[in-house]
Amino acid sequence: MAVERTLSIIKPDAVAKSVIGKILARFEQAGLNVVATKMLHLSEELAGGFYAEHKERPFYNDLVAFMTSGPVVVSVLEGENAVALNRELMGATNPKEAAEGTIRADFAETIDENAVHGSDSAASAEREVAYFFEDSEICPRTR
Ligand code: GDP
Ligand code: MG
Repeated sequence: MAVERTLSIIKPDAVAKSVIGKILARFEQAGLNVVATKMLHLSEELAGGFYAEHKERPFYNDLVAFMTSGPVVVSVLEGENAVALNRELMGATNPKEAAEGTIRADFAETIDENAVHGSDSAASAEREVAYFFEDSEICPRTR
């Protein structure tokens, strides 16, 4: 399995709970390196564009309102099988259905405020990383 990159977002609910460090630690413990990271407060335009694929879904407006309700931490994670590994660490979209020990099981309660986003395929990872980061902002390990 090749080294991949994936996009992670620590959502406003998790930032508000002050579990940024605990969540990043899970990525690092699983062998995913943080190669870019920043905190930002998404505008409606940026959040809406990011979730454009969900535009026709009934929860779209609520999702954009939630994602703009407070700051988020956006990161690029790099490692073997990063896309699937991150999804595994996150757990199911609905925290009530998320496996024990996953981020969503441990740090979220409801499907609409579920602590983290992670790219769902190599193609979306490439698009999502480019949505938030210039190439020059990504810092692969040199030692
Ligand atoms: P993910 O890839 O696991 O994050 O899930 P999706 O791509 O299907 O949905 C994107 C995000 O929309 C989820 O993480 C939730 O924050 C939100 N979402 C999904 N389904 C629902 C829903 O039924 N109701 C609400 N309010 N939000 C939802
Ligand atoms: Mg998704």
